[in-house]
Amino acid sequence: MRSVEPTRIATPGAPARPFAGYLFDLDGTIYLGDQLLPGAREVIDAIRVAGRKLLFLSNNPTRDAEQYVSKLGAMGIAVEAREILNTVTTMTDWLRRFHPGATVFPIGEEPLKRALVNGGIRISEKPAEIDIVIASYDRGFDYRKLQIAFDAIHVHKQARLVTTNPDRFCPFPGGRGEPDAAAIVGAIEGCTGIRCEQNVGKPDPFMIEAALARLDLHVTECLLVGDRLATDIRMANAAGMPSALVLTGETTMEMLSDHPEADYPTWILHRIDELLPSLQRDRPDVREADHRGGKETDAGTIR
Ligand SMILES: [Mg+2]
Repeated sequence: MRSVEPTRIATPGAPARPFAGYLFDLDGTIYLGDQLLPGAREVIDAIRVAGRKLLFLSNNPTRDAEQYVSKLGAMGIAVEAREILNTVTTMTDWLRRFHPGATVFPIGEEPLKRALVNGGIRISEKPAEIDIVIASYDRGFDYRKLQIAFDAIHVHKQARLVTTNPDRFCPFPGGRGEPDAAAIVGAIEGCTGIRCEQNVGKPDPFMIEAALARLDLHVTECLLVGDRLATDIRMANAAGMPSALVLTGETTMEMLSDHPEADYPTWILHRIDELLPSLQRDRPDVREADHRGGKETDAGTIR
């Protein structure tokens, strides 16, 4: 992983060449709430026709991959479960990799708990047994769960605190929203005085490394497309991945000027289907020519 150059300046417009892989944020990028965004289906179709790889990334831990397959399918976008990567999966993978054998207490919803159990991770509500408290987006959060976390961390002085995602709230259409995992982290940090040690969602490098491993591509061969500067674009920049900000979700052009340059995207799209010309330029004869020459482009080596 390399850092992005500090002089990088975002330019409006779309990339001229296709990428080998596309990482798409979901909410605000592909759909808004339950409404598919204009041009999203056409872009996914064009990526399939062009034979490029894609992966959908979400910080939301209240659904698992199969539920996203159903949601996207209902909107007319056919995807496979392996094309979805969210924090239910990254948390399970992170625990298995860095804390094998740990007993965890997830403050989260059923999809997260189900993934942990299916991943062979032991769950307990007994504070003396808990090695890791997982603070997540949990609409069933209550004082009993906070007490278990407090006892495990402060009384038994054994458990550490981690989170699925750093989001303060989950935005809904019309300016509404729901408190997200940061609210649970805040409650536990407030009563124990400890700090949350790890986030496995955007913008943490663990998320983008998991995505690249899933796609089997190098960081410069992929384009990350998202609507949030502090999660989507910051993660891409930190990894050295080209990025496109779409203005169909959280971010406006006015907000962009208030952000540090490190959060600027490579390109800015008013609509996601501004990616279409570059994908339609991806004719088989062009790809073959690039293969023969082993040609490097600003989009990385075309496979
Ligand atoms: Mg988003």
